[in-house]
Amino acid sequence: MIVYKFGGASVKDAEGIRNLAKIVSEEKEKLVVVVSAFGKTTNALEKVLKAWISGDKEYINLLEDIYCYHKKVSDELFQTGNGGKSKIDVLFAVLEEYLSATSPSDYDYEYDQIVSYGEIWSTVIVARFLENSGLSARWIDIRGNLITDDRFRDADILWNESSSRIRSVFSFSDTIIYVTQGFIGSTIAGQTTTLGREGSDYTAALLANILDAEKVVVWKDVPGLLNADPKWLPDATRLDEVSYREAVEMTFSGAKVIHPKTIKPLHNKNIPLHVRSFIAPWEKGTIVKSENVLKHGLPVFIKKENQIMISLIPRDFSFAMGENLSRIFYLFIRHGIRVNIVEASAVSIDVCLDDDRMKVESLIKDLATEFSIVYNENVEMLSIRHYTPGAVDRITRGREILLEQRTRSTVRYVARRVPANVGQ
Ligand code: ASP
Ligand code: MG
Repeated sequence: MIVYKFGGASVKDAEGIRNLAKIVSEEKEKLVVVVSAFGKTTNALEKVLKAWISGDKEYINLLEDIYCYHKKVSDELFQTGNGGKSKIDVLFAVLEEYLSATSPSDYDYEYDQIVSYGEIWSTVIVARFLENSGLSARWIDIRGNLITDDRFRDADILWNESSSRIRSVFSFSDTIIYVTQGFIGSTIAGQTTTLGREGSDYTAALLANILDAEKVVVWKDVPGLLNADPKWLPDATRLDEVSYREAVEMTFSGAKVIHPKTIKPLHNKNIPLHVRSFIAPWEKGTIVKSENVLKHGLPVFIKKENQIMISLIPRDFSFAMGENLSRIFYLFIRHGIRVNIVEASAVSIDVCLDDDRMKVESLIKDLATEFSIVYNENVEMLSIRHYTPGAVDRITRGREILLEQRTRSTVRYVARRVPANVGQ
């Protein structure tokens, strides 16, 4: 069997869902189809949540817009009378009811209860459309099967619980296509959880691992993995084959095409990942697989924006390495902050982090008693894998470099653009 994953961009309108059905109908193998929320629905639901939590009745209008969007898609896909339309009304009513009857508790908990609906709505519509197109497709609610801990918004899978449930539910005894949600799961107690933004790729990889899939295909609006983001460097080229190691380094450095957590479950069972274009499904895309791949020899450029670089100096002037380092890392983990670069000298530690404002502010507060702190906001992390002098020059030109780190294969910079810069 094969796992297909369709992200928000591939199901942003009725046309996209028709295209999905065409791609699915051409596959001869048994399929698990993992689908994200339509288009930018997750962002829109985050806005509903924020308004609702702060007691702003505007949440009702924001939710109404999301409803109209889904209604329009389902009206375009279904003829009146076949059940497609009323189902959406019922599903929206469940969330409306929750919002009007509940007083908000913990932010992360409420986030998962509310934002997860995007995937429920999208998969119900997609599964129904596949059935209407004459395919044997069954909708599965992944909650209750993909079991996680209760770290809401960033839940970790519980392998033993999930494996047995998933193997028995996705048995292919009753159908040849299953349609299910990415990004969401539930605790053993049945509370909905999410796996972190853009987590549907990770769901696809988890299901592939548990079900021993032959491969995973992630359908994207780009032709595969490229050696740079084409919006940044327009001459970006597709890489035909990439090793798991290369892919994990690329995604960790900020390449957005696949979620960084996706690779491990696939690597562990040697399952190849194909990244293909839903716009040009006849093209072969990129294959991510075990080490034995074609050498592409191209530098790979990765840019991660919205970073903050923090420099910490112990107030008592003790050495940075050793105990201080472990204490700092403990705090990062406790605040749920991802560290992208660490550089330490005798009495100072520089770190580059994703600038998640709320988390960073409370981290700084916790560090301030023991460390004097200087930081630069709004900086970029630039990475070049397989760097060459030309590649370095291309990226650093017109930028002020705040930190540089080089290994044999990778160079990383924390940088900011010089204001008058006309370069890239
Ligand atoms: N819908 C979720 C998000 O936009 C999950 C995903 O698309 O992978 O983050
Ligand atoms: Mg998405």
